[in-house]
Amino acid sequence: MKKILSVLLALAMLLCALPAMADTTYTGTADSQIGGKDAVTVSVTLADDGSIKEVVVTECKDTKGVCELPCEQLPKQMVALNTINVDTVAGATMTSNAIMAAVKAALENGGVDVTALMEKKEVVVEKAADETLACDVVVIGAGGAGLAAAISAEQNGAKVIVVEKMPKVGGNTILAGGAVNAVNDRSEFAIKQNDSVFWHYTQTLKGGDYQGDPELVMTLVSNAYDAIEWTKSLGMEWQGEDKVFTVSGGLWPRAWKPVMVAGTGFFDTYTKYIDKTDKIDLMLNTKAEKILVNDLGAACGIVCTGETGNTVTINAKSVVVATGGFAKNVELRMAYDAIWGTLDASVLSTNHEGATGDGVKMLQQLQADFIQMGNIQLLPLGDPKTGSLSGNIEHGVDSRIFVNKSGLRYGDEGGRRDDMTRDLFAQEDALMWIVMDSDTYPTGDELNNFGETANQLVAAGRAVKADTLDELAALMGVDAENLKATIAEYNRYCVGGDLEGQADQFGRTLFGQPIDNGPFYAGARVPTVHHTMGGVRIDTLCRVYNENGEIIKNLYAAGEVTGGIHGTNRLGGNALTDTVVFGRIAGESAAIGK
Ligand code: ADP
Repeated sequence: MKKILSVLLALAMLLCALPAMADTTYTGTADSQIGGKDAVTVSVTLADDGSIKEVVVTECKDTKGVCELPCEQLPKQMVALNTINVDTVAGATMTSNAIMAAVKAALENGGVDVTALMEKKEVVVEKAADETLACDVVVIGAGGAGLAAAISAEQNGAKVIVVEKMPKVGGNTILAGGAVNAVNDRSEFAIKQNDSVFWHYTQTLKGGDYQGDPELVMTLVSNAYDAIEWTKSLGMEWQGEDKVFTVSGGLWPRAWKPVMVAGTGFFDTYTKYIDKTDKIDLMLNTKAEKILVNDLGAACGIVCTGETGNTVTINAKSVVVATGGFAKNVELRMAYDAIWGTLDASVLSTNHEGATGDGVKMLQQLQADFIQMGNIQLLPLGDPKTGSLSGNIEHGVDSRIFVNKSGLRYGDEGGRRDDMTRDLFAQEDALMWIVMDSDTYPTGDELNNFGETANQLVAAGRAVKADTLDELAALMGVDAENLKATIAEYNRYCVGGDLEGQADQFGRTLFGQPIDNGPFYAGARVPTVHHTMGGVRIDTLCRVYNENGEIIKNLYAAGEVTGGIHGTNRLGGNALTDTVVFGRIAGESAAIGK
């Protein structure tokens, strides 16, 4: 009897160890508007009864910082609901659609009839009970400024809750190129670069036509290097000071670059810190609707709509608003724009879906004071289909030129962002090509600032590459003679030419190596709404003011929701500096009750 039992047991163990015989795995790919051809690859396993057993996204070439969440969530939903027709992830629609298309293609190519699996299943979310929570500091928004504020508040002894309306952290900050302007006045390197905190201050003020508040600007630049050091103390890795570069519209080589791509390094660092402490709670899918004030007019908490549609009230000693800007809210940007004439929906935006100006609306209810709301920054660097920054082949200012559809340079590519965008609007179809050579991409497999290689962009149809300028011109659809003459003229300036240290005919002074080292690269770009520089009035302690010039007690703000720092035109590389510097200050002020 014992023998039979042990034989049966051994058999059973053997069977368990073997994979289910009837599982079948299929692989498929789909294009996406962002990552281009075959951007998403999946493997799908069906059980013997035809139900979905496993879905894995094995490759996704879409934007880093955006594609991770749908790659993780959609497969889970497909298995749980046994359908390939699931909801897209907010803020990542194109990647979500590409994943669904790849799964469908995998099954159809394997001869599976997907009719039943395409059925949309109703997801019944049970509304959780309303709840009331309490903490010392509540932070609205888990972007760059919000998470810097949360950590700084915690470091100053506070118990913190952060609410984020999107299903992920990062906001616009995670999509940014990652550059942080900062000068270490005490470094020999900065001296050699003829840079100083004061020069950063002067350029920031002047670059914004002196509309920036001098005290806020001084706070920004004098704490910038310390901001780098602070993120390092949290574990963030940076490329060395000798690698600083001139970011587009940054006007000087002082932009530090994180080791991790785009803005992802900040959030890798911040979320690891938050995971380790039990004094910061992060609530995703939780949208702040209202800031609460007590009888004395002091902020004392917020009311949110929770993940299941329930009401979440958070009572707090202080509130930090870090909700970012409103570049994705066409109505608001049309209402406020004082620079461009129209910013209707035909003008694309670099921003994430959540940049809708909720903070502006909540603060308006408290009669907060707003300044320079008409100052909206556009970049000449948007993807022609989506407006996003990703897909931009440029590295720094010195190594590339802009040419229009006729193959001609038309402006100073090292100038202010508003000037460069105005110049671009004046060109045919407001479209230009960024042109560079193999000095930037020796093999083409080097990464741009968004984690994409030049060769990937070429394969995805988002850039072109050719051994000669004639071939490049043909791929760009521009006049070859014009392009060659333009580049020959530009190259003369690179080696000194007849400029004798002066600016060229467009005012350009930043010249790197000549563009003469094939293969050559070009990528098309259009104007795109990037940063809303106006916002709520704060002081150097990030305290918020009302229309009567009084401090609204216990209320603080940081990041793009604030105004008065960047004036009419923000220097490239100053936004992420802003999030860390003012985020930290807001967190400290809120924790200590300044
Ligand atoms: P900043 O650069 O100022 O930090 P970001 O765009 O990086 O701005 O981050 C702002 C964050 O605030 C985004 O993640 C956005 O989704 C979030 N947010 C905006 N409005 C709300 C709201 N009503 N409730 C919660 N989070 C919000």
